[in-house]
Amino acid sequence: MRFVTRFAPSPTGPLHLGHAYSAMLAHDMARAAGGVFLLRIEDIDRTRSRPEWEARIFDDLHWLGLDWPEPVMRQSDRLPAYRAALDRLTDMGLTYPCSCRRADIEAAASAPQEGVPQFGPDGRIYPGTCRARPMSEMRGGDVIRLDMARATAALPDTAFTETGPRHEGTHRLDPGHLIRAVGDIVLARRGMGTSYHLSVVVDDTAQNVTHVVRGEDLFDATRIHVLLQTLLGLPVPTYHHHRLIRDDAGRRLAKRDDARAIAKYRAEGAAPADIRRMVGL
Ligand code: GLU
Repeated sequence: MRFVTRFAPSPTGPLHLGHAYSAMLAHDMARAAGGVFLLRIEDIDRTRSRPEWEARIFDDLHWLGLDWPEPVMRQSDRLPAYRAALDRLTDMGLTYPCSCRRADIEAAASAPQEGVPQFGPDGRIYPGTCRARPMSEMRGGDVIRLDMARATAALPDTAFTETGPRHEGTHRLDPGHLIRAVGDIVLARRGMGTSYHLSVVVDDTAQNVTHVVRGEDLFDATRIHVLLQTLLGLPVPTYHHHRLIRDDAGRRLAKRDDARAIAKYRAEGAAPADIRRMVGL
């Protein structure tokens, strides 16, 4: 099978050193395998995504020497595909509408139990307040959640392969872990009709991605993605989670980290080879 990977930035800020590392590593891996490097713009968050950021990301990536086939996939064009996947999970009886706001969830979760995790890859683990509500009672402003206990009840033995340095090996999905430590994740956010997890899974299949190369911070989300792929009957790619680029104080770089923006290094006269050296490629 031909190696296909992708870089999937959200156009909500400048491309910084961490993104550049991720994109160049994926591009290098594709080239070494005689494969393909794709780009995908993850712009489902319409309130934060900006065309100007998108244009600058393209410009920085080209400057770094990367190329990719056109047209680029843009998530804002793909809402019907996400809807279809969501409908499928609903038809399987695995979804429910939820009207809880952040404050409701905090209040319901305010009596921590010994040994029970409070936070998962998606933030605070949902206490299940709305779990019994049927989809027919969905109201405007509700989000749609996955009922994790039902989703994992008939889960076949499922595993994924990780080739990244920190977690290299085969990882099996453990239903008990998913219920306790991940919980009822949001599949469709308010005003978006989808979520990061659902869109990524649908798009990695649509783009025939065989290898997902991304930062270690997303490793815990991978179990959610493999679960959704299995429920939806989609192929499970190989995963490679790479180390994160940190600032001088050891903190991982954030979108706001303009000090590490590629644009800033360019303005100071750096060459693409300098950026490669800075991230250890
Ligand atoms: N859009 C995500 C980000 O910018 C990356 C998602 C992924 O690689 O799966 O962090």
